Amino acid sequence: MIGQVHVIGAGLAGLAAAVKLAANGRGVVVHEAGDHAGGRCRSYFDAALGCRLDNGNHLLLAGNRRTLEYLDLIGARATMVGPDAARFPFVDLGTGERWVLRPNRGRLPWWLLRRDRRIPGTRLADYLEAWRLWRARDADTVAARLDPERLLFRRLWAPLTIAALNTAPEDASARLLWRILRMTFGAGGASCRPMVPGTGLSESFVDPALGRLGGAVRFGRRLRALGFDGARVDTLRFVGDDVALGPEDQVVLAVPAPIAAGLLPGLDAPDQFRAIVNAHYRIDAPRDPALGGADFIGVIGGLAEWVFVKPAVVSVTISAADRLADRPAPELAAAIWRDVARALNLPGAEPPPWRIVKERRATFAALPAQLMRRPGATTSWKNLFLAGDWTQTGLPATIEGAIDSGLRAAELMIAGLTGQAR
Ligand SMILES: Cc1cc2nc3c(=O)[nH]c(=O)nc-3n(C[C@H](O)[C@H](O)[C@H](O)COP(=O)(O)OP(=O)(O)OC[C@H]3O[C@@H](n4cnc5c(N)ncnc54)[C@H](O)[C@@H]3O)c2cc1C
Repeated sequence: MIGQVHVIGAGLAGLAAAVKLAANGRGVVVHEAGDHAGGRCRSYFDAALGCRLDNGNHLLLAGNRRTLEYLDLIGARATMVGPDAARFPFVDLGTGERWVLRPNRGRLPWWLLRRDRRIPGTRLADYLEAWRLWRARDADTVAARLDPERLLFRRLWAPLTIAALNTAPEDASARLLWRILRMTFGAGGASCRPMVPGTGLSESFVDPALGRLGGAVRFGRRLRALGFDGARVDTLRFVGDDVALGPEDQVVLAVPAPIAAGLLPGLDAPDQFRAIVNAHYRIDAPRDPALGGADFIGVIGGLAEWVFVKPAVVSVTISAADRLADRPAPELAAAIWRDVARALNLPGAEPPPWRIVKERRATFAALPAQLMRRPGATTSWKNLFLAGDWTQTGLPATIEGAIDSGLRAAELMIAGLTGQAR
């Protein structure tokens, strides 16, 4: 007899596990503590600005294989938009220089040989320094392997590390950055083509999944404890009621790391986090043809890091932003707007209506020591599996990592494997 699967948490990890299991004919119930799905990757209506906002600007790449698999499962691949080739426009506010990073489609990176394709002021030899990451040891940081004094560090390695790992290069794992480089630039420009949701995060990643799952997602269901019987979980204790599990029932725990650590004493999990600050401005900014079909621009030498131009809103992301967490919102809104205005050639005196969102625990910190604390999908209990961007995916805390972890937990269950890794 095949039991039911209880998925705890309706973030992307939990949704990915649930839709994969459901597509394979398994009975699934998703229990979500909040009153909405999507976790850290969702859209919401902001009453003050009078429009929908995304909880952070999530940029994906065409090489995010597991994300595309998930989008296909929920029938939402066509909701993603972006330029038809890898294009990353940048501006350096220190010098006023602008360029578009354009890796060529194939794996052989001939674009590095062309000065007009390289970042201004850099030489081929600067890029070859990336091989030093390949030889990095587990404990090495990015800044220990790559020369922070070089222009390429300032214009590529540092912004890439901060954006992909949400951790400053002085602290971030060199090996993890190497993995990202292999999966992106190493796989060729076709894999680097940027994609963003055409309408919003929820419309691409959440609502279509809820449509597939029908009434299987229950909201306001906060798991407060697990009950164990020997090598199995036998009870789910929610705020308000307990659910007794049948002998064949299984559980995917897809909650954030600190919650999982509270539910499973003795679990090693990342316990250091980094903030992301988002600034949203209510303005219909004109599409800049200089962005080459990309609706975003990377900013070097400012407070703003990535500026996204959306219908009726300009949204800015600043990662590894713990230094900003205590700065007053009006001060941040004004300072970030000055960068946005310069980056997009807009009038800069007064910011339009704004909203600052500080996500203090946006992702775990990609420090070498924290990566050692990431558990696999299986646990000491044969019917309990783990998922979440913080589990051992080999990726930073990203959509791709979260979805991969959920699909993987589902695949282990579909293959009939039990937990009990230890
Ligand atoms: C501001 C911001 C910007 C980001 N930008 C990017 C980006 O550009 N690209 C990218 O790839 N990634 C980005 N990320 C990271 C990405 O959003 C996350 O990696 C991903 O959404 C994590 O999904 P998850 O399912 O692992 O966790 P979560 O989204 O945290 O989901 C966990 C779910 O569990 C629920 N839950 C918690 N406790 C309980 C309980 N006791 N019982 C039941 N349910 C519970 C929560 O309510 C939540 O819905 C960003 C994140 C933030 C915050």
